[in-house]
Amino acid sequence: MKSLVFLEHADGAITKGSLGVLGKAAALGEAAGVVLGGGAADVAASAGAFGASTVYAVDDPALAAPLPQPRVDALEAVVRHAGADNVLFASSVLAADVAAGLAARLDAGLNWDVVDLAVDGDALVAKRPALGDTVLVDAGWTSTPRLALVRSGTFDPVESGGTATVETVTAEFQDFSTQAELVEQLQEAATGPSIEDADTIVAGGRGLGAPEGFQLCEGLAEALGGAVAATRAVVDAGWYPYSTQVGQTGKTVSPRLYVALGISGAIQHKVGMQGSGVIIAVNKDPNAPIFDFADLGVVGDLHTIVPKLTELVRARKG
Ligand SMILES: Cc1cc2nc3c(=O)[nH]c(=O)nc-3n(C[C@H](O)[C@H](O)[C@H](O)COP(=O)(O)OP(=O)(O)OC[C@H]3O[C@@H](n4cnc5c(N)ncnc54)[C@H](O)[C@@H]3O)c2cc1C
Repeated sequence: MKSLVFLEHADGAITKGSLGVLGKAAALGEAAGVVLGGGAADVAASAGAFGASTVYAVDDPALAAPLPQPRVDALEAVVRHAGADNVLFASSVLAADVAAGLAARLDAGLNWDVVDLAVDGDALVAKRPALGDTVLVDAGWTSTPRLALVRSGTFDPVESGGTATVETVTAEFQDFSTQAELVEQLQEAATGPSIEDADTIVAGGRGLGAPEGFQLCEGLAEALGGAVAATRAVVDAGWYPYSTQVGQTGKTVSPRLYVALGISGAIQHKVGMQGSGVIIAVNKDPNAPIFDFADLGVVGDLHTIVPKLTELVRARKG
C-alpha cells in the first residue's frame, strides 16, 4: 500500500505533525512525501530520516505564498505522476483547504479528523470520533486514492534513520488557481515551545477566575520549561489565544506532563490531552470529572497551590 504524505514546512523545516503522519504511513506500507514551495528540494531530503523512501518536490513561483489552490494543482500532478493508494495530511488550516480541494479535483473520498489508521487486507480503515467525541467509529473509502486529514498532534514523528530519494516534479497551474494573492501575513509573537512541541504543558481553565489568572500558568510553565495551553471556555471568553486551545475544536497534544489548573475535564477537552504521559490536576471540586483520568489530583484552591508549587520547582531547579 503506497501512501503519499503532504509534508507542510515552515522556516526550512517540516512540521512535527506532518512527520508524525509520515511515520504512520511508513508503518502502513510504502511511504512517500510531497514537499511543495520555496526550497522544496532542500527540505525534502530531511524526510528520509522519518520514514519516506521517496520525496517528490515541486518548486514553482506559484507556490511561494502559503495558498491552497496552487498546491492542489501541484499535488494532483504528483498523484498522477507517482500514483498513490492514500494521500495523507496532518491537519492545519492550509492542509485542510488543500485536502478538500484535492478531493474535489480527483473526485476522491476524504475522511477528516482521523485519529488512527490501520490496514485491513487491501482496505485502509480510519478511526474518527463521532457524537461529540464520545465514541470512535471505523470509516472507510469506496475508491482510491483515499484522502485522510489526521487530527493535529495525533502521531509523534518516528526517526527511522533512513534516506530518501528526492524527485523533482513539474506541475501545471490552472488560471483560476493563481488568482488569489497573499496580501499580508502576520506572525504571532511567541516565547518558549509551542504546545505541539512541548514536553510539558500547563493548561488553564475557567477556574483561573480571570485572564490575569494565566500569570499563574505562565509562571509554572516557565519554571518547568513548558508551554501554556487553555480550554475552550477561556479561549471563547477572550482570556487566551485560540492557538493554545486543547480539545475537540482545538489541538491534540501528548506531552510527557500535562498540568491542568482549574479545568473541569469535559469530554471535549479530554480528547485533546488524554494521550499525555502524566496528567496532574488541581481543582477545588473533588467531584470534577478530570480526577477520573488524572494520574495525580490535588483538591484545593489553585490560587494557593500554584504559587507554592512554582516556588518549589524553582527552588529545586536552583
Ligand atoms: C462542540 C463542542 C466542542 C468543544 N470543544 C472544546 C475544546 O476543543 N476544548 C475545550 O477545552 N472545550 C471544548 N468544549 C467545551 C467543553 O464542553 C467545556 O465547556 C470546557 O472544556 C470547560 O472549560 P473549563 O474546564 O475551563 O471550565 P469549567 O467547566 O467551568 O470548569 C472550571 C473548573 O475550575 C474549577 N475551579 C474553579 N475555581 C477554582 C479554584 N479557585 N481552584 C481550583 N479549581 C477551581 C471548578 O471546580 C471547575 O471544575 C466544546 C464544547 C462543545 C459543545
